[in-house]
Amino acid sequence: MSGRLSVIGLGPGDARYLTQEAIESLEAASAIYGYGPYLDRVPARQGQSRHASDNREEHERASAALRHAADGANVAIVSGGDPGVFAMAASVCEEIEAGPTAWRMLDVAMVPGITAMLAAAAHAGAPLGHDFCALSLSDNLKPWELIERRLDAAAAAGFVIALYNPVSKARPWQLSHAFALLGRKLPVTVPVIFSRAVGRPDESLTVTTLADAGDMPANMATLIIVGSAETRVIPREGKTPLVYTPRAAAKVMA
Ligand code: SAH
Repeated sequence: MSGRLSVIGLGPGDARYLTQEAIESLEAASAIYGYGPYLDRVPARQGQSRHASDNREEHERASAALRHAADGANVAIVSGGDPGVFAMAASVCEEIEAGPTAWRMLDVAMVPGITAMLAAAAHAGAPLGHDFCALSLSDNLKPWELIERRLDAAAAAGFVIALYNPVSKARPWQLSHAFALLGRKLPVTVPVIFSRAVGRPDESLTVTTLADAGDMPANMATLIIVGSAETRVIPREGKTPLVYTPRAAAKVMA
C-alpha cells in the first residue's frame, strides 16, 4: 500500500504562519479534507480535489480521508493551529486504532503548526515563560465536573492556564463559572489575556484581571490565558502592556 495521509497544521490564520513543511505537504497532496473555512485558506491547485465537511464531523472526516489514502492517494487533512492540539491528529489516530489493520500500513505524517496559545502568548509578551498547561473548556468530549477538577488543580499548582474553546452557543455559562472557580484559588488581580482571531486581520488582544474577566466578550475564536500569581504586567504609554511570567518561581504552593 503506497497511500499517504498528512495531518497538517495551518497555524492561527495568516499564511505567514504556515511552515515550509506544511506548504510542501499541501502542494504534494492530491486530495485535501477539512472544515470549510480552513480549506478556504489553502490556495487552489489544479488536479487537487477538495472535501469540505462541518466542524463537528471529525470522525467521518478522518475515516473518509483514511479510506481515500488506503486507495493509494496522497491525502491531506488540514487543521487550524496545530493538528495535535484539540484537533484532527488524535482523531486520525483514534480511527486508525479502531479501523482495519491495513490503515496501520499507511504512511502517516503529522505536520505541526503554530497553535493559537503560542501565537496569543507571543502577541501579549511572555505569559508562558514559566510552567503552564492548556485545557479545552468544551464538555462535548468530557464531563464538566472533570473540567472543574482540572481547573482547580491547575490553579492550585500555580500553572498559567491557557483555555481553548472557551464558549459556544451551546455552552453560554461555563466560562464565567470557570472564572468564578479560579477566583477561589487565585488572587483576583491575576492578569487574564483575551486573544481573539490571533493572526487574522480582525485580531484583537485585551488584558484584564480575573476580577473583571467574567464581563469580557469571548467566542469560539478566542483563546484565553489566565496568569498565575507570579504573572506580571508592564504598562506602556500608548502601547498594549507586556504580560509576562518570570522564569523563576520562589513560592512552594500550599
Ligand atoms: N488546533 C487548534 C485548536 C482547535 S480548538 C490550534 O492549535 O490552535 C479551537 C479553539 O482554538 C478555539 O475555540 C479558540 O479557543 C482557539 N483558536 C483557534 N484559532 C484561534 C485564533 N486564530 N485566535 C484565537 N483563538 C483561536
